Amino acid sequence: MKAKIKDFGIITKLSPYGDSSQIIQAFCRSHGQISILAKGYRKQQANNPLVQLFEYELSLYEPVEQGLYLLSEASLIRGNTLHEQAQNWVAAELGAELLSKILIASSDAQDYYELLSSYITYLHTPDIKPVCIWWRFFSRILSLSGYELNLDTCELCGNCGEERLILDMRNGGMICVDCAEAITQEDGLMVISSKAAHILKLLPEIGLHMQELKLGRNLAHELNSFFVAAFEGRFNKTLRLKSLSVLEQFYPV
Ligand SMILES: [Zn+2]
Repeated sequence: MKAKIKDFGIITKLSPYGDSSQIIQAFCRSHGQISILAKGYRKQQANNPLVQLFEYELSLYEPVEQGLYLLSEASLIRGNTLHEQAQNWVAAELGAELLSKILIASSDAQDYYELLSSYITYLHTPDIKPVCIWWRFFSRILSLSGYELNLDTCELCGNCGEERLILDMRNGGMICVDCAEAITQEDGLMVISSKAAHILKLLPEIGLHMQELKLGRNLAHELNSFFVAAFEGRFNKTLRLKSLSVLEQFYPV
């Protein structure tokens, strides 16, 4: 074992390991996404278990080679009550899952960490529609990764002020109607409905509009699919998020 380090971490996943140990996935402020072995922790900490999506100060031994960190101590910094509301919980879990799909350099980890932490905090706001906060989080993650959603300018020709929003699924950029017509692969385009486009444009200040928005399952599905397609185009890889369709079930057909 190497030296002991300290870092702040949000636990993104917990899995039992052997009779009494746990494998922890955590997103850490300085180290980004790491896996930690907590030896004998389930027995030791029966009265004070580690909880998913809680924030801890972690004392860890660095792995000798590419492997698991070893947990020495975890002190709770911030718990939360998201588990009391299934929909808010699912949205928070999706946020953690999304981060786990991105390769994040440790030099950038703090920005992503703070975004995840403030997202979890914001999901406690009364009377919100969690799926809207999820979309705002997703769009912020895209921005942080250098892929800001530009809804006003065509990525191909630079024309501004488009009425229709069209996603070029080949690379995740927004393009105009004229440029879309020149693209022959029809399955490479996603034309956004006017209702979904309206929500996308409101996202930066969605907190002010939450009450007036009427969300049905189709609309939730459309916007989820839009963000997944934008991610897949930008990162050039498939994105599967386990709880995505679960979040849609909370909205009426
Ligand atoms: Zn264009």
